[in-house]
Amino acid sequence: MAIKKRKDAVIIPSDMFFYIIPLIPSRQRLTREDLATHYEPPKGRKAYMGNHYKLISFENSILTVQVHPSDGSENHLYLHVELDELHVACTCGMPDDKLCYHAFIGLHSMCWLTEGFNFQEIYWPGYYDSAKAKKFLEIELGKERINISANPDFGTLYRSGLKFPDDQPPALSNPTDRVLTLKPGETAVYSYALCFATGRFRNRHFPLLLPFFGITSKDGSKVVSFTKFILPDKLPVKSNGHQLQQQLDSYSKTLYGIVRPLSLAENRDWTAWDSTKHIVFKMWQEILPLLIDYPYNQSYHLYWLKYLRERPMKTLMQGCRYSLERPSLTFNLTYHKHYFTLMVDIIIGSKAIKVEHKPHLFVFDEETNTCFLMNTLQDDELLIWMTDNNNKITILAEHFHEFDKDFLRQLSDKYSVFFSERSGKRIAYDCNLVKSITGV
Ligand SMILES: [Zn+2]
Repeated sequence: MAIKKRKDAVIIPSDMFFYIIPLIPSRQRLTREDLATHYEPPKGRKAYMGNHYKLISFENSILTVQVHPSDGSENHLYLHVELDELHVACTCGMPDDKLCYHAFIGLHSMCWLTEGFNFQEIYWPGYYDSAKAKKFLEIELGKERINISANPDFGTLYRSGLKFPDDQPPALSNPTDRVLTLKPGETAVYSYALCFATGRFRNRHFPLLLPFFGITSKDGSKVVSFTKFILPDKLPVKSNGHQLQQQLDSYSKTLYGIVRPLSLAENRDWTAWDSTKHIVFKMWQEILPLLIDYPYNQSYHLYWLKYLRERPMKTLMQGCRYSLERPSLTFNLTYHKHYFTLMVDIIIGSKAIKVEHKPHLFVFDEETNTCFLMNTLQDDELLIWMTDNNNKITILAEHFHEFDKDFLRQLSDKYSVFFSERSGKRIAYDCNLVKSITGV
């Protein structure tokens, strides 16, 4: 192996002999047991005392190691690792092309751990060139150990032959679920729509799950025409479809059975309505994980359940995605000199989403058409109250104490409430602090 001279790199004569020690591919560890098959280990403890080694450099894929055995000699070892081999050279030249005493002592000392020396640390094929190594790798060279990792700017590096040895991606199972794969273009699909009413129509019905037939677009990526809804009370008792589909059909039917009579009743029993909301919420918590991977999910905005026909209105259908993340509510109290306002942010992850139309139990991120189930019924009711009030509660400064006692104190016990002046910074709500800042 010929290595060109670099200013501080080691100079290795092009005819230097390298002894080859086979390694288990993708393991690349050398143990003392492995080593003993290449060199007869000296007998007695004394032979292993007073031996020293020091890692000198790692350049152009060569790890240079200085070896000082107890016999007083001093040599350099040059180590290079391939996927399944360790190449070892010594400045003594290894007479007779055999692994020399220096190499044995050096490697033996490096392999003092029972699991041996991990030569995978220096196996970075493709990154050996010094400019590349500098850019992509972080090399920590200690006296006895070397650690090489990816420069964090590049995340993780794909290592040829090893993939991602430090942190393999999760195993991806083959999709065995035929139902869940996208269909080719212009074919019939069976999928589900979340049917809801919002705003002042919200109380007409709770969200339902409606199965429908549709036709996919040319590229198969979305549904472009909606052939018919299967009214859940007309769903076949025994479907021969996929198991997931049978589960969803069954939920669809149960929900419809609960929601429809209550929705169509002439004089609504509000106590029954409230207790039904708990049941419907619980059911949606079960449905969502089943629905999340289903292709071609839609939302259907229906004002009145009695207008539900088998033929979907295309304009009311919209492709939607579901997320298992739950929104959280954060309130913002702002001081405007003579009055305060209280508003709510709906937070998903770390991002506030904009919600203008709120059905029961869900919020839609209107930017991404993603649908989230509320975290609790209390959150749902609070958010409905806020959105129905244009998400703004205004309190005159002179009523602030009363408002705090009546409402804000309880709210801030249960939710994050922040306070800010119009120009000031945002701080956690504290009644006394607000009083001292605003002088109310
Ligand atoms: Zn030697």
